[in-house]
Amino acid sequence: MKKCEYCAKEISYHEIYCCDDCQTNANKFYEVRDKISKLMGVINGVSVLSIGIGLFVYSMIREVGAFMVAIPTVILGILFLFFPIPADVMIQKYKIKKAVQITRIIAVVLLVFGIAATIFAIFST
Ligand SMILES: [Zn+2]
Repeated sequence: MKKCEYCAKEISYHEIYCCDDCQTNANKFYEVRDKISKLMGVINGVSVLSIGIGLFVYSMIREVGAFMVAIPTVILGILFLFFPIPADVMIQKYKIKKAVQITRIIAVVLLVFGIAATIFAIFST
């Protein structure tokens, strides 16, 4: 069965979206995604790289490594909370609405983990 590209409701084969609202929301989503995808990619790359290096540094210099992991994790959390742009594979699997919700949940988890790691980093220095 074919599903609405936005809300994943079942639709007939000649439709893409179940209603006008879903089409409008999907268009808005793709518009925002096109605008910020490059910036998101850069921030994402830098953050993940910093977390990777941070984990390595942590094994030698704990204080520095802890901050290098904690701060980018908080940044990623905030970023995905305000701009929940899921990966294409997630959109294909869950459709836009659910993929965005999942991304928001991941963002909250990252944020909580990041803040906890920051507090840990502050008290361990
Ligand atoms: Zn729909």
